[in-house]
This record gives sequence, C-alpha cells and structure tokens, in this order.
Amino acid sequence: MPDRTERLPAALRHRIGKVHHVALVVRQMDPALAFYRDTLGLELQTVMPIPSDRVKIAFLPVGEVKIELVQPTDETTGVARFLAAKGEGFHHVCFEVADLAETLTRLAIDGIELIDSAPRRGAEGPVAFLHPRTCHGVLVELIEAPGGPAWTALGYQQR
Ligand code: ZN
Repeated sequence: MPDRTERLPAALRHRIGKVHHVALVVRQMDPALAFYRDTLGLELQTVMPIPSDRVKIAFLPVGEVKIELVQPTDETTGVARFLAAKGEGFHHVCFEVADLAETLTRLAIDGIELIDSAPRRGAEGPVAFLHPRTCHGVLVELIEAPGGPAWTALGYQQR
C-alpha cells in the first residue's frame, strides 16, 4: 500500500497556515523602535517584558505578519549569548499551525529535533521551538492558531 503522506507536501501534512512573525534580536529596544516604528513607520502593537524568558519584546504588525523585536534583559539566556556571538539581526521565524501537539509529534517522527517537546505558554499563544541543527540553520518557532486544542490545555482565556 502506498504511503499517502509521502506524496503530500510537508506544509499540507503539518497544516502550516502562515508566517506568524519574524523575530529580530536587538541590543536595546528604544533605538530599535526608533528605526522600525519611527523611520520605517511600522505600527507598534505592544512592548512588554517577559520576565520568565528574561527578555523584553515588541510586536510590530506588517500585513498578516508581525516583526518581533527581542532584547535580552540579562546575560544568561540563549538569546543573550546569540546576541553576544552574532550581534543584532535575524533570530527566528514563527509559523502558525492548527494543532501544535500533533505537529510536534509528526515532526519528531520525521527526525526533527524539538527544543520543546510539548506546547508551552508564549506571549501570543502556545508555542514550541525546533532546533536549528535540523532546520537548515534556522531557529524555527511554531505557534498554535487561536482556538486550537493547546489553548484550552494551557489555560488561555479565549478571545
Ligand atoms: Zn517568536
């Protein structure tokens, strides 16, 4: 019997809906906002500290996609080491999926190395990261579309 999934593009198998955001690491939020908001004219949706991740983030929507600015707030995190080693610039891309837990299971079967083996709470919904080692050098984040099963499982208030 032919394996039906082999003939389907990966994007269909994992039901990736859209690029949710592109994250850029910055040294300091204010000079970065001076460029993205004031010079480029992007709308600033929110700036907020994420104390559990020891970062400050900002979201600037551009059409359906958001630019996420990430500023480390101490020296101990992975993103702080990334900034120290590589400087400011591209950090990760985030794709939206319908069912995050199911997607992680299927990716693991496909041999993709998961940083988060289960959905965890993110600022904008349940998220999980995939290791750049198995993603062609790119840190990939997945976020579950609003109303998906992990929203209930992680206790999000539905909008
Ligand atoms: Zn992100």
